[in-house]
Amino acid sequence: MAGCDFIVNYAKSARSLCRHCYEYIDKKALRIGKYVKNFYDEDNEGWGDLTYWHHPTCMFKAFDEGKPRDKKIKSPDDVYWFNQLKQEDKKTILKLISDANVKADNSFRQFRCLCAKLSDEDTSAGKTAIVSDFLKTGNGGTGFKGDVYLLMKFLLPGVVKTVYNLTDKDLVKLFSQIFGTNLKAMEEDLEQGDVSETVRVCFDKSKTVTPLKKSVLTLQETEDLLTSLSRVAKENERYKILTKLVARCTSNDLMMVVRLITHDLGINAKAKYILGGLHPDAYKAFQVSQNLKDVVERVQSNTLHCMPGLKEEKTDKKTGHHHSKSDGPKQGTSGSSDSVDAAVSKKKTLVKRTREDEGQTTPTKKFKTEPSASPSPSKIFKGCKIFLPVGTDKFKELKQNIID
Ligand SMILES: [Zn+2]
Repeated sequence: MAGCDFIVNYAKSARSLCRHCYEYIDKKALRIGKYVKNFYDEDNEGWGDLTYWHHPTCMFKAFDEGKPRDKKIKSPDDVYWFNQLKQEDKKTILKLISDANVKADNSFRQFRCLCAKLSDEDTSAGKTAIVSDFLKTGNGGTGFKGDVYLLMKFLLPGVVKTVYNLTDKDLVKLFSQIFGTNLKAMEEDLEQGDVSETVRVCFDKSKTVTPLKKSVLTLQETEDLLTSLSRVAKENERYKILTKLVARCTSNDLMMVVRLITHDLGINAKAKYILGGLHPDAYKAFQVSQNLKDVVERVQSNTLHCMPGLKEEKTDKKTGHHHSKSDGPKQGTSGSSDSVDAAVSKKKTLVKRTREDEGQTTPTKKFKTEPSASPSPSKIFKGCKIFLPVGTDKFKELKQNIID
């Protein structure tokens, strides 16, 4: 199976070393190999890749500890020889994959990446498509496996409001104590306008606390911390909770949590278009019930259409949200309109997701997309300088074509 980055098989001897725990892998034991480029093969003449063997659990631990951009096993299709395994071993691998996908989908980092994408997209229909695609894909490609309710709630902090009674000034004061940063300096920075940015910058510069290098925060943990924050009013109690939060955050994490607290993610998306990504009728349903949890549960159990009051609500005039026909997502009143959004979403976002957005969590300029195979690449690439990551599909073929 060309294009796989991993192989699974049974150790032929007891001589292979696990590249994670550095213990020998027992003979006949299930092991996962990761193909690693042979660095001596500088000109890519096909010397063959190296295989780094791992115990299956160690392989997944290594993914956890590695960089976000590193190749990972997200589905059995990523693993050569999977179909040759004994049934029970297939189950073992599938469980490891599914656990990893659930974990990734519940990570705060992935939520941040989604926000960055939404912020980069200018049109409302495009934003709906991004949310829809995100839910249909998820980390593993077969659908979002995390907590959909929490995800949607976090995407709508201004609508499904948790009240903290914290002003920008309160936040700056609290964080200046936690970071050991001069309050005046922070207040001056705040004058530039964005408290979340001020907090991020000062967190990075703090001498008393160090931001985590790698994001470990989950959606649930964030929710728990924010809920407890909303329940206290005394400064020392808030200080305690925020200190706990800070200890679990990268600076980008903290910036986005502050945006949740201030009810503005900076993604410039109305509830209508975010909820449109969940289901074409989700926004209407939410207007009727004002109960996001119920709406999400109905979408998941396919019972949204039986919601009392939904059919009568033909318009959304009640809330005063204006409806622009030109740039709105194509939301029909019938369930079949879903396919329209799905088609848009596939075109728009699938290419981006796999690589360049992996490590990207705050809005930045878009990179160029990589060249893909085409009938006569040699003509197209004439006179161009092309950066081609080694991980690209058909890397060798493409490289040869480009050289030609
Ligand atoms: Zn191991």
